[in-house]
Amino acid sequence: PVRYLDFAVAHRRWLDGPRLQAQLAYWRGQLAGLEMPDLPPDRPRVIAGDAPAGLVRLPFPRDLQDRAQQLASRDRATMFMVLIAAFKIVLSRYTGSTDTSVGTPISNRPTADVEGLVGMFVNTLVFRTDLSGNPTFRELVGRVRATALAGYANQDLSFDRLVSALQPDRSTGRAPFFQVLFNLLVAPKPVRLAGLEFEPIRLPALDAQFDLDVTVSVGGRTPDDDAIALAYNAALFDEATMRRFGGHVLRVLERVIADPDGHIDDIDLLDETERRQLLVEWNATAAPLDPHETVVSRVQAQARATPDAVAVVCGEASMTYADLARRADEIARRLAALDLGPERIVGLCVGRSADMVAALLGILQAGAAYLPLDPAFPADRLAYMVEDSTATVVLTESALRETVPEAGARVIALDDSSDPFWTTPPPATAPAGPAQADRAYLLYTSGSTGKPKGVEIPHRAFVNFLASMAREPGMSASDRLLAVTTLSFDIAGLELFLPLVTGATVVVATRDQAMDPGALAALLASQQITVMQATPATWRLLLDDEWAGRPELTILCGGEAMTRELANRLVPRARAVWNMYGPTETTVWSTIEQVTAGDEVISIGRPIANTQVYVLDAARRPTPVGVPGELWIGGDGVATGYFRRPDLTAARFVPDPFPAGPGTRMYRTGDLARFRADGRLECLGRLDSQVKVRGFRIELGEIESVLAAAPGVRQAVAVVRQDRGEAALAAYLVPAAGAIDLDAAREHARQHLAPYMVPTFLVELAELPLTPNGKVDRKALPAPAPPRTAAVTPPANETEKTIAAVWAEVLGLPAVPVDENFFDLGGHSLLLAQVQRRLDDRLARQVPMLELFQYPTVRTLAARIDRAATTETAVSPAVRERMARQRAALERQRTARPLQGDAQ
Ligand code: AMP
Ligand code: MG
Repeated sequence: PVRYLDFAVAHRRWLDGPRLQAQLAYWRGQLAGLEMPDLPPDRPRVIAGDAPAGLVRLPFPRDLQDRAQQLASRDRATMFMVLIAAFKIVLSRYTGSTDTSVGTPISNRPTADVEGLVGMFVNTLVFRTDLSGNPTFRELVGRVRATALAGYANQDLSFDRLVSALQPDRSTGRAPFFQVLFNLLVAPKPVRLAGLEFEPIRLPALDAQFDLDVTVSVGGRTPDDDAIALAYNAALFDEATMRRFGGHVLRVLERVIADPDGHIDDIDLLDETERRQLLVEWNATAAPLDPHETVVSRVQAQARATPDAVAVVCGEASMTYADLARRADEIARRLAALDLGPERIVGLCVGRSADMVAALLGILQAGAAYLPLDPAFPADRLAYMVEDSTATVVLTESALRETVPEAGARVIALDDSSDPFWTTPPPATAPAGPAQADRAYLLYTSGSTGKPKGVEIPHRAFVNFLASMAREPGMSASDRLLAVTTLSFDIAGLELFLPLVTGATVVVATRDQAMDPGALAALLASQQITVMQATPATWRLLLDDEWAGRPELTILCGGEAMTRELANRLVPRARAVWNMYGPTETTVWSTIEQVTAGDEVISIGRPIANTQVYVLDAARRPTPVGVPGELWIGGDGVATGYFRRPDLTAARFVPDPFPAGPGTRMYRTGDLARFRADGRLECLGRLDSQVKVRGFRIELGEIESVLAAAPGVRQAVAVVRQDRGEAALAAYLVPAAGAIDLDAAREHARQHLAPYMVPTFLVELAELPLTPNGKVDRKALPAPAPPRTAAVTPPANETEKTIAAVWAEVLGLPAVPVDENFFDLGGHSLLLAQVQRRLDDRLARQVPMLELFQYPTVRTLAARIDRAATTETAVSPAVRERMARQRAALERQRTARPLQGDAQ
């Protein structure tokens, strides 16, 4: 024991000497900027105590060992270097990073002579290798060799000391510097130590210290002793995953030994069976589709089959299938007689009504494509869309006439019977209707370079989509769907046309009903709705309003990730809940999944009819099951491209190289995804700066370029922040000189961006924080201060006081200036529902959602409310029902606690 203490003292003294300081400097440099991506786990990591270990053992054939040894000898490397190089190729593919780090134990090695003492020192070295630049395998072994030799030369610094010196972030629950340990045991012979004999076998610990601990043993007493043993963290990985991983290691080893001069990026991890499963079996979605069928021909057939069935309901109005066909035909004939330009695109800028549906159908029947123009968008943006689309005609209604920019197009109000459109007698023959190759709609979505881009969807894609939806989730003539989505969101296409191609009824909610959870709940009940589709935000709105659910209802939820928490709240409240996934560019939804309650990770399911999905790595190779890659989508849903943007189109739509069929294309989604072992997909987020806020698709780049053009702004960065729970947009502006007029910047944003793209927070910064390599460090941007509340004019009367108090509660602000805009204070449409609820309670009268929008300051809203109070307003049945419900709830509360009234 004395000698041992001496040794420890001596060792510590030695550690602080110049030699160890030099080694520390080496490791500091070697490990700088190490990101250490995870092996993709089957289950999310939870920071808990010890994790159980699992063990998978794969035979390691002698013949393969011999060839690995020969290759090593030829290049003055060791077997260990060859094995770890091959292993790192697999690791790099699994983690999606060319920066790999692996720990390797150096055991039972005599340490350097320390003041005359020789000790046994067990250490762990970190092997970090850069696999970038697509080297050949031999080049890679060369890199590994160089790293190994440098590592050995600096091996005296103990791992513990390295950790305490470099202080890596441990908050993530991961081991420092590496997650994977790799160890080679060559010809394990008993070791003699102090006269005793030890079996030098590393028994995997019962608790997994690392995510994966690999031990390769070679040259054992019998070939059966030789194995690749994977001891893994069983809280993270399934055994099947580890077997697959081990199989990939062996396969890569075979490949690199057979062809050491081949480049590592050319190595295919997958064998034939895996390729077939990923590319063919899980994409076997072929479903016959009549090549002449379009949404128009299908609705017309329905009108012939069930002319008296109700097709569309909106408010008090309703249309039978015969009414709908007649009205669409009227519009179609007249449109077809106009000059629609070579591209035949017709804008539609109308409020939500039954006639909106007829107009859409009429446009399609005229052989034109519809271009949705949201009346809530600023004139500038609408004008851009009309011009860019080359639309020569825009259909609108008298009330919106002033809103619609002409931008070179003829504007026709559908309800203006004096317009020559209506007074000119229609052609005697109806237009032939579209073919499948014709464009059905042109839908503008946010563009990262500053201008929205138009996605062109052909009829074939649209009718294929509808036919697939009619089968699953399913729709039939007895169904009643409640349509809540604005036309400028492609999912409105399902809401309006899926009922019509199946003989069902579509009930169109008005804009303010769609934003009012009470009104929605009332409509769901009174209209006996069986299907409703919405984004997660809208479903949460309903749930937060204590919607009790509806056992007859099929819920379609999509446009943004569905969380487990949301699924678990929805499932018990409905007949069925579906998670729907898809970008606009592949026609509404491309994969779907019925969701059940439980705790397994939410999946986006499998591809719909005639659709292929591929998860590919950066070199466009399919990634193995469980390994994240970018999701690409092929098949009938793929859009024609971006309208008149060949460069953008070529960047995102490419020929499909897989067995799906020659001549087809696939679309690059920008979503990170992976396959689960059962063939269902998991969506893991975005690979770019496209975001979703309350279901709206936004390119942060578009907000940035618009704001960078605002007066006095030199540079702008936009981000989504969740400082107050809900996602909100914030933009950080750097002044060109002096200070920025933030009000002017906001006004500029309002004039050019869709309302949902205008940042809630505008923050002026003298300069932007940068990362070490000079990019904007988005994570380091400061939390926006709550909107300015200086110079608060106090509320002037009771109504103003009540409103100001409610806003302050909902917005989380200490006080609210009476002339400040609700939306500038951080408010948004979903918060308005809370405002509405609270105002209902405190003012004892219903404030319509629309008014909350139209009167966005405390002062204007109070004035409006006080004016309305004197001129008795009609209360709709939905509102009456809602107020009755609230009164009953209040009553229940009161009667439940009759004696507690004085307690406080
Ligand atoms: P959009 O073109 O508006 O339909 O937006 C498409 C994008 O929304 C996709 O690329 C995804 O990033 C996201 N998205 C849509 N549906 C889902 C879903 N069910 N789960 C996760 N992300 C979704
Ligand atoms: Mg979509």
